[in-house]
Amino acid sequence: MQTLNYKCPNCGATLPYHGESGQMRCEYCDSEFDPEALRQYDEVLKAQTEEPDQPIWEEYQNEGWQDENMGIFVCRSCGAEVVAEETTAATSCPYCGSTTVLSSRLTGVFKPDLVVPFAVGRDAAKQALQKFCKGKLLLSKSFLNETVIDKIAGMYVPFWLYDCDVSADINYRATRVHSYRSGEYQVTKTSHYLVRRAGDFSVQRLPVDGSQKMADAYMEAIEPYDYSKAVDFTSTYLSGYTADKYDVDAEASKPRANERITTSAQQLLRNTVIGYATVVPSGQRIDLRHGSIRYALMPVWLLNTTYRGKTYTFAMNGQTGKFVGNLPVSPARAVTLFGICAVAGGIIAALIALLGRFM
Ligand SMILES: [Zn+2]
Ligand SMILES: [Zn+2]
Repeated sequence: MQTLNYKCPNCGATLPYHGESGQMRCEYCDSEFDPEALRQYDEVLKAQTEEPDQPIWEEYQNEGWQDENMGIFVCRSCGAEVVAEETTAATSCPYCGSTTVLSSRLTGVFKPDLVVPFAVGRDAAKQALQKFCKGKLLLSKSFLNETVIDKIAGMYVPFWLYDCDVSADINYRATRVHSYRSGEYQVTKTSHYLVRRAGDFSVQRLPVDGSQKMADAYMEAIEPYDYSKAVDFTSTYLSGYTADKYDVDAEASKPRANERITTSAQQLLRNTVIGYATVVPSGQRIDLRHGSIRYALMPVWLLNTTYRGKTYTFAMNGQTGKFVGNLPVSPARAVTLFGICAVAGGIIAALIALLGRFM
């Protein structure tokens, strides 16, 4: 008889072979297993404890951006650096609204590979801002004037787009529970399964934000972009706009890309494991191959304005028109509004009292 030394998948105890039934039977938890099934189970677990290949990403190459008409504008107040045409010279910083902006020559900057062009114009962005403010009863009247609205600026925000092929192979320990009555006993039968899922898929244009200055909360709120609409970049797309210079490079963004791709692979496979009482991943191997990276610009309408010492932001997706904003609330108006509410409440209470008397 062959010597088998398996551990009980249920409780971890060593499993002896039970001659009469031809099964492996656990003395601790009373589970029974088919020896062949256990052998396969062991094999799969072993294969998946091997280290996966390191994610293979190409080294990002860029010849650099050469364009005599372009310059870098540096904000002396917050340090932001943006690229814009020399002629349209950025007059105020898109990040903090400061007007102390210095210009310098365009050197040592990556040329974007792709761009998602603006599909929503300045007028539409202004209108959206006005409409957004209109609904806000608590908004200070002095906040929204033409000077403020005119500060709204079109800016391209940098992203790294990752393409790769993925092979995923994941095991799950799963159970199904069946409970039935047998004479005076209630019997609960738990069946244990080793579920294995494997698949290949490709990832296209997975975005990772290349700007730390652009608050993630705002970017996430106005996402998503349709990355399939990205076209080859030429400087003409920048006419009248500014482009934020990335401050997180392709190398530093790789861990984020790896993480997002791995999580997506896990979710894709996990979604196919259905019909079990419990499902716990027990091993996985996820390999990323043929990874390529491109640098891309996404359009944003941005307004950063300072009001009574605090900065307020309005950001709008320049492709879809989705926007987000935080706007100042004046204490004086808040008090008035509360007063109106209190009076209205009083009237309603009085009406209810009157109705009560007539009913
Ligand atoms: Zn056991
Ligand atoms: Zn600034």
